[in-house]
Amino acid sequence: MRILVHACCGPCSLEPVRLLEEEGHELAIAYSNPNIHPEAEYLKRLETLQSWADGEGIEVIPLVYDPETWEHEVGVHGTDRAERCRACYRMRLQRTAAYAVEHGFEAITTTLSVSPYQLTEVIAEELERAAAEAGIRSCFRDFRPHYQQATILSREMRMYRQWYCGCHLSMEESKREREERFAARKASKEARRAARASAEQYCAAIEARSRMELGRKDAHEDR
Ligand code: SF4
Repeated sequence: MRILVHACCGPCSLEPVRLLEEEGHELAIAYSNPNIHPEAEYLKRLETLQSWADGEGIEVIPLVYDPETWEHEVGVHGTDRAERCRACYRMRLQRTAAYAVEHGFEAITTTLSVSPYQLTEVIAEELERAAAEAGIRSCFRDFRPHYQQATILSREMRMYRQWYCGCHLSMEESKREREERFAARKASKEARRAARASAEQYCAAIEARSRMELGRKDAHEDR
């Protein structure tokens, strides 16, 4: 089957492309990601994807990059992640489906379902919806069992690996989560240090008391 694969980045494309090719499908990749902020990051992820796909002989088609439209239609959901990510998937997959229909593909799929940090069920629903609206087939696969392998491979290949999902809101969320993790680790280290100091104080007090009692006993025996 001729499938247009929506890809979010290079590392997440490794395993889906391998698995779909093993099934005998003919693939092209649509880079439909107006969510990515800033533009330099969008270009860096595209370049990473493109240089890997060139080596594999797979065409990468960058679709429109209009972050203002994304902000207007998706960013308005703010910190409501469930609503925001659904709207984000919808925009990216609808555009992928529209391109697929115009260019004679039979089905669409997405690499978004590689990541255990994404909303897998929502991705499946939005892929189905985008395909049905466009009148083509959806080819949803839950690629999460391949996440670890994709991580290992992309590290070995020294691919650029991003630290946040894509939008400016996810960048802030990731930063905050990192800071919270750092603060929790620091607090736990300090608690361990305090516990060790208190145990040392206790041992020193016991030792001092034993020495005192021993001294008293010696004095008594000397009499
Ligand atoms: S967190 Fe990711 S999927 Fe959700 S809105 Fe932001 S870029 Fe889109």
